[in-house]
Amino acid sequence: MADESTYYRKGFGLKAEVQQTLTADYDGRLVDLLLARDHTLIAGPVTIRLAKEFGFCYGVERAVEYAYQTRAKFPERRIFLAGEIIHNPHVNAKLKEMGIIFLAPSATGFDYTQVAKEDVVILPAFGVTIHDFETLRALGCIMVDTTCGSVLNVWKRVEVYARDGFTSLIHGKYYHEETRATASQVEKYPGGTYLVVRDMAQAEDVMAYIEGRFEGGREVFLTKYRHAASPHFDPDLHLKRIGVANQTTMLARESLAIGEAVGQSMARAHGEAYRAENFRTFDTICSATQDRQDAVNTLLTEPLDVMVVIGGYNSSNTISLAALCSEQVRTYHIEDALGIDPARGTIRYRDLANGQEAEEGGWFPMEGVVRVGVTAGASTPNNKIGETVARILATCGIDVASIL
Ligand code: SF4
Repeated sequence: MADESTYYRKGFGLKAEVQQTLTADYDGRLVDLLLARDHTLIAGPVTIRLAKEFGFCYGVERAVEYAYQTRAKFPERRIFLAGEIIHNPHVNAKLKEMGIIFLAPSATGFDYTQVAKEDVVILPAFGVTIHDFETLRALGCIMVDTTCGSVLNVWKRVEVYARDGFTSLIHGKYYHEETRATASQVEKYPGGTYLVVRDMAQAEDVMAYIEGRFEGGREVFLTKYRHAASPHFDPDLHLKRIGVANQTTMLARESLAIGEAVGQSMARAHGEAYRAENFRTFDTICSATQDRQDAVNTLLTEPLDVMVVIGGYNSSNTISLAALCSEQVRTYHIEDALGIDPARGTIRYRDLANGQEAEEGGWFPMEGVVRVGVTAGASTPNNKIGETVARILATCGIDVASIL
């Protein structure tokens, strides 16, 4: 453990002091109105339906609040942040305005060369790798750790897999901060090993290898997955005992399916008794992600003409929500309200098919009754949701002031 006098992970008891600023920066009157009206706003021919669970999750609220508390506690010190506190450009911009310095990632972790002993470093809600943590501890600076409790739960699971000689097969994005931090937990035990798979297609490769039907064999497999695995990973050695975990913000349905399918693959390759001994799976999707995905699935049972999903383009849980919606209805994942230009009638959004930003005109149905579904990822504050609703209404000529 780090030195208790320089390591904080429960805030500084300054909640009351920062609450007013937090409210001013992130709360939204329009969202309050939607909540008061059963998540529904009817304005002329347009009905806005907001998902029952949306926006800031408990982990993000806590991390942002601790960052504000840190500024209040150490007004004179330099404060650094390892990466982004969460994946929301608006929130990160606010922290920069408060003088918090964002550290850039390098190939081996964040670059802490400018951090001195008397400085403060905030660790984000995703956590940092063991390497980063140890580097900071060696520097002796003050660490404010906002790692979400749900992420810590995944770490514990991965740590146990490593302790017991299981390779952690992590459903996640290998480059995502949370998954990098989670994967690094295997290093707590000599020989601890991980492999990250992004989706079922990649899990299929793993299953094919387990069952001896992967085309191209070991070298091809390694070429494809070396970047997403422990440096010493060898598929011939490390796919014999597997424990499945996942990044907390993936599509829950897919994570469960991967766990189930890999278990079946182990049984096909080695028999049921072998699977019982050498395969484990544990759903580590966090409850906030699950609740938001469940809520959007409920919303999608209603007739909707279009769905708008708000959140950072690099926000994993927002991408998962957009993927769910796009299966049922025309869906736009926008970064924030500015993505909607009422004057031009356009929307700027992240194209799910290729991850690139695109712009579309005439996206809003201008005739007849229109029902618009809205949800937001766990890192999107309420004021950004409210601004988006206002711009949706403005697109069809409705001034939000007339309904407030
Ligand atoms: S999405 Fe889940 S794991 Fe991530 S910060 Fe929120 S509650 Fe924590």
